[in-house]
This record gives sequence, C-alpha cells and structure tokens, in this order.
Amino acid sequence: MISLARKYRPKSFADVAVQTHVSNTLRGAIARGRVAHGYLLCGPRGTGKTTLARVLAMALNCENRGANGEPCGQCQSCVRIWSGSASLDVVEIDAASNRGVDDARELRERAMYAPSGESRWKVYIIDEAHMLTREAWNALLKILEEPPPRVVFVFATTEPQKIAQSAAPILSRVQRFDLKRISGTEIRSRLASVLASEKVDADPDALAMIGRAADGSMRDALSLTDQVLAFHDGRLTTEAVRDALGLVAEEEQIAVLDIVADHRAGDVFAAVARLVDQGVDLGLFLSGFGDMVRGQLAAELGGETGDLSERTRAALVARKGRVPAGDLLRMLSALGELEPRFRRSTQQQLLLETALVRFALLDRTVAIEDVLKGISGEGNASPGGAPGRPQPPAPGRTAVRGADAPTPVRRTTEQAEPPARPSPPQSVATSTGVALESSSATARVGIRPTTTTAVTASDLNAVAGVWDDMVAGVRRQRPFIATLLEQALPISATGNGVLVLQVEAPAVQEGLTQKSGEAVAAMGAWLGGLQKIQVRLAGDVANVAPAPRMTVQMVRSDTLASLRKRDPVLNAAIDSLDLDLVD
Ligand SMILES: [Zn+2]
Repeated sequence: MISLARKYRPKSFADVAVQTHVSNTLRGAIARGRVAHGYLLCGPRGTGKTTLARVLAMALNCENRGANGEPCGQCQSCVRIWSGSASLDVVEIDAASNRGVDDARELRERAMYAPSGESRWKVYIIDEAHMLTREAWNALLKILEEPPPRVVFVFATTEPQKIAQSAAPILSRVQRFDLKRISGTEIRSRLASVLASEKVDADPDALAMIGRAADGSMRDALSLTDQVLAFHDGRLTTEAVRDALGLVAEEEQIAVLDIVADHRAGDVFAAVARLVDQGVDLGLFLSGFGDMVRGQLAAELGGETGDLSERTRAALVARKGRVPAGDLLRMLSALGELEPRFRRSTQQQLLLETALVRFALLDRTVAIEDVLKGISGEGNASPGGAPGRPQPPAPGRTAVRGADAPTPVRRTTEQAEPPARPSPPQSVATSTGVALESSSATARVGIRPTTTTAVTASDLNAVAGVWDDMVAGVRRQRPFIATLLEQALPISATGNGVLVLQVEAPAVQEGLTQKSGEAVAAMGAWLGGLQKIQVRLAGDVANVAPAPRMTVQMVRSDTLASLRKRDPVLNAAIDSLDLDLVD
C-alpha cells in the first residue's frame, strides 16, 4: 500500500497550504522569471521543506506551467519529479550521510554539467544542510559566486543556527525562508481531508491525538495515521490510535495532575511506577503532561485549550481553580527546561519523579494582592480561597479550613521539636496559610532577589525550589558532586539541618555518602543551616513517606521573619492579619 505521506504529497504550491508565505513568494518568482540561484529553507522537521523544493523543481521544469507559476502536476516532467524517480534535473543530497558530504565535494564539477535540456532547470536539494563540512560550503560558495545558468540550490535545514558560521558567505547569497511549525489544528484539518478522500471515518478526538503525537510534523501525522490504519482498518478511533501508537491515555495525565493539585507528593512514586509497568514511554508522558498543564492554564485564563480531546477539555474546565495560574506557569517553565535533558537521560524515571514531587510540593501561591485586598476590606477575597477554588481534602491531609474572610492565623501549639519520623503532611489550608506560604507570594512580587540566595535547609519547599540552581552553581566548583546531586531528590528536611535525599542508583548513594562532607560544604551556600545529608535508596515505594508539606518546623522556620525584615508591605500585611508565629 502506498503511504499516505507519499500519496498526498503536494503537487503544487497551493497544496503546501500551511507555508503560504513561502509558497506564494516562490510561485511569484517563477511567474515573473526571477528565480534566485539559492534558497535556504529553515524549519522543524516535517514542515514541508523538501516538498517545497520539489514543487519548485516541478514548476521550473513543467511543460504546461500556469501563468501564475504553478506546475501542472500532470506532464511527464512533473510526474517524474513528484514521484522522486530518476530525474536528471533534480539532485537530492542528504548532507547527513557520508555520501552526502562526498556529493557536496563533487558538486562543483557536477553543477557545471548544464541542465539536461535547453529549457530545463537543474535543482539541487541539499537536505540537512547544517551537516555540510566547511570544505563543502567553500566549494558551494565558488559555484554561487558565478552561478551557472538555470541551476538552483535549495538548502534545507532544521538547525539554521548551526549553518551560520561555516556558511556565512553563502547565506548572503541565498534567499532565506523560515517555515513555520504546523499547528495541531492545521494537522487535524489536513488529516480530516486526507481521510475523507480515503473514505475512512475518523473520530475528531482521534485526529487530535495524532495531531499531538505528530508534534508539528505533517509527515509524521500521516505516517502515524498509516500505522493506525494498518492495524485498524476502516475507522480511526481513539482506542485504535492509543493501541497503535502506545499513547499514554490522557486520563493518566489527568490523574497525575490531580496528584499535583492535591499536593499528594507521596503518590507520585506509585503513579510513575504504574506508568513504567505499563511500558509507557516516559518522554511521551512528559510531553503529554506538559500539554495538559498548558491546557489547564488556558482553561484557568479562559483561553483556547489547544489540541486536547473534548473529554479532556471538559475535565480540565471542571478542574478550574485547583492549581493557581502562577503555579501552572512555574510548572510549564520547569517542564520546558527539563524536556531536552530528559530525552538524553538514562534516569528518566527519577527525573520524572523529581519533577512531579516538586510540583506537588509547590505552594498554593497566595497572591499578595489578595492579602492586601483582604486588609483593605475590598471584596471578600480570602487569600487562596476565592470562590470557585475548591480544595478537596486529600487523603492523609489534615485540612484546616478557615472562614471565608481573612482570619487570624491559627496559633500553632503543636510540638516544636521535629518529630523523629516525618509527620503526616499538615496542610495549613488557605486562609490560615497566608503567612506560611508567603515565600511564594513574595516570589511573585519579587521581594526575593532574582539571583538565588540561601534558603533555609529545613524548608523542603524552598530547598526543592532552589535545587536546580544549586546544582548548576555547585557544578561550577565541584562538577562531580553536582552530577551526584543532580540525580538526587530532596524528600525530607528536619529542623536540625538534616536533609534527606533519595537516589535511584546504589552508586550514587555510595558516592554521595562518601562525599557527604564536601557535598554539604558545597550546598551550604544555597541551603542555610545545612548540617548533614542522609542518602536513601529509592525502590520500596511504601518506604517513602510522603514529604511533609507544611510541618511545624517549616512554620517555625526563619523564612517569614527574614521576609518581614525585607519587605515593609508584607510586614504590614502580616501584622494587620495577625499572622504571627508562636515562638
Ligand atoms: Zn507539469
């Protein structure tokens, strides 16, 4: 069976619908007889770079070209070029292969062979042009300095920034076009029309799933569709797509989002273990989870939720208000930073757990504006507890529910000494949480300097928050220690300066334990009051106590006191709300 990607490869500029800014310009150049000697097409994979180059070659050589510059798509020349069968006038070179480099070296001579006929054009399509060597570029430069008539070079690359240095003199001689990433909506609508021609029924949700998996590549979208149809003839359903592509069900991603929203950090391990058991590609899960967070943020802000299925969209809308937009943003930016590192990592499970635990430990940010509004008596904005922000009691959490209006913080009289074992997480719920959670509120109003300053080692949230910066900082002085720390997850902190780290590899445990003195010294600049680290091996999920979210000692930490010193407005807010600590 001929593949859909091949069967539906565009035969005209008009067919390359998404990249109209490029195809219209090229078509116009042909119609006016003003074709350049060189073009550079930049863009992500699957966005139509070589397709455009082929259509350009077709149009230049078409026997019945339209006045508007479009190739006919029917003549012998068009058919030959379109089908990729031997055509003397189109030379495709893959610069990524060794052969490609050799080809490029020979280009100079080969380009001198004129096109095969009087009216013919010779088009060299050089794919992955960023892989060309400097010598190859030099050879090409010689050609482009005195281009033979009716010879066109089309360079295609996914990474134009890599070309910049070695090919600077060339770049000034070619016309550059940047192709845009194909949106999920565009992929869906193209798929729908292709499937309609194929007389295949398709669920809109199934199209959305393929659109997401294709990640901006039309070619991928079509070959994914091929894969699905190979197993499930005749109809494209969500189940078929999931089966064929091993996609992580969106329900799994929502379940994890719920864990994060409920601050059930301890449940992260079981959830990730379940994904691993199911043989889920964690990279795929991570990117899907990112889509979910993005969708939740969009739902939060009343925007378009993107390429999610109807069901998921409804689920996200129903969850509105559970995670503050600020936290969703922080999660998105953390995911963005994690993704490139994630793909290369051999410790994906640990990285995923680390990220999700951190998300689950994110404070419910309380906008300082809400606090101030509360003071001035404007509205009934109870900090963090605005209407429509339900806070379902999560299992294992002691929710202390406050009244709607700002109330004085409940004075804690629980034991002041750190418990021997991590205490059950104590959520200090919204209205009482203002002072306690003020560190994140301050992050929003920028009290904390943007450069990382020391946080107290007894505040697990704060430790998790500076962890990446710390590892990056440690790396400058002690790269080996940093590499070990990078693979560790802070899971518990006590008031007496002991930080418990969890690692997956015994070797990392051993390394960190051996070097614990040096590690503590190196970490000290970021984690104030750090005395000692304990390194524990992950594995037995039951053994991992849920990280205490807001323990007495965190309440008693000096964060608040230092914040009060630094910010008079916050200080006044705390005073007005009687948010003080018993000490
Ligand atoms: Zn033609």
